[in-house]
Order: sequence, then structure tokens, then C-alpha cells
Amino acid sequence: MTISVEEFIYSDEWCGGIAKGKRLKACIPGGSSVPILPANLLLKTAKGEQRMMNYESLADGGFQTGTMMGSGGFIVFDEDQCIVKHTYTLARFYRHESCGQCSPCREGTGWMEKLLLRLDKGQGKMSDIDLLWDIQSKIEGNTICPLGDAAAWPVAAAIRHFRDEFEWHITNAAEAQVRNFGLAHYADAREVVPA
Ligand code: SF4
Repeated sequence: MTISVEEFIYSDEWCGGIAKGKRLKACIPGGSSVPILPANLLLKTAKGEQRMMNYESLADGGFQTGTMMGSGGFIVFDEDQCIVKHTYTLARFYRHESCGQCSPCREGTGWMEKLLLRLDKGQGKMSDIDLLWDIQSKIEGNTICPLGDAAAWPVAAAIRHFRDEFEWHITNAAEAQVRNFGLAHYADAREVVPA
């Protein structure tokens, strides 16, 4: 496709914008296993170029500031969505899908699910974030089939881009049970895209 990600999300010809006029928080553009991107990196690359709806542009920046087009399963998160809960949901799915043949996937997906549930329920510790990072890094590239990578990448990207939201869930545990973190500094990228 030769259109921009911004046009794809907001034009009436394609997705017609975000429901109820909510603001854009993040997006997983290529199916649940590919890295999530915050709004500011979704609509523009780290080099400040408009992000396009094609394999090359979405991958620009590698996993540090880019993502993948993958299967094209485009998932948009508005300002009300919780990244911690979402990451837990994905971890739960991949733990369920693991066939158990290789230990990094069999054990690691279960450990990630438990840690993310703890964080989501406001019972996490700061060290859990680094532990999650460590577990995902030991799954990636160390399994027989790609499901291991598919389970690791969403966790890595969520921590890479939304670490402060994870920390907020720990330091504001009670509050996190009744409201979401919101946008914080992940400003709706449309507001900073020059005309
Ligand atoms: S990586 Fe693939 S083969 Fe290994 S346990 Fe997971 S699902 Fe099974």
C-alpha cells in the first residue's frame, strides 16, 4: 500500500478514525506477535519521516523504534487501553498455545504470564519488570518453532516503549485497579505531525 499509516487509520476510505473520537495511544500493525508501537513512533519514524503502510516503512528502525507488517492484523489502541493488561492477555494466549516441546517456551511463557498477572493486579515489584525482560530475552531465538519469538516480542516491545506504565502499576497499585494510565507522554502523534 502506498498510503500512510495516518491515512489508513483516520481516512473514511479506510478505517474511519478511532471510535468515539478517542485519541491514539498505540498500535500493533502486524498481528499480535509483532512489536507494539506508541503513537509517536507509529505515525512517524524515529527519523521524522511519515510511516507508510508497507513492509519497509513499518520496519524502519528495527525493533528499537519500528515494528513489522507481519500478517497485517492491525490492532489500534485508544487512550483508554491498558498496556499491562493487554500484554498479560497476549502472554496468556501464547502460554496456552505452547506445545511444551522446548523448555524456554514451555517454562518461559508460563513465567511471563504469572508475572504479568501479578503486575496487572497491582501486586508486582519493580524487579519483576527486569525479570520479565530477562525471561523474554532467553526465549527469543532459543526455541524450535517461531512461537517462542512470537511470545517474547510483545513483552519486549511493551517494556521497551511503555516501561513507565508498568512502573506506574507498581507505584500506584490501588489506583491502577480503578483507572488506566492513559496517554501520559504518548501524545497523540497526529498533534505533532507537521502539516
Ligand atoms: S517454541 Fe514451538 S515447539 Fe517449542 S514449545 Fe513453543 S510451541 Fe512448542
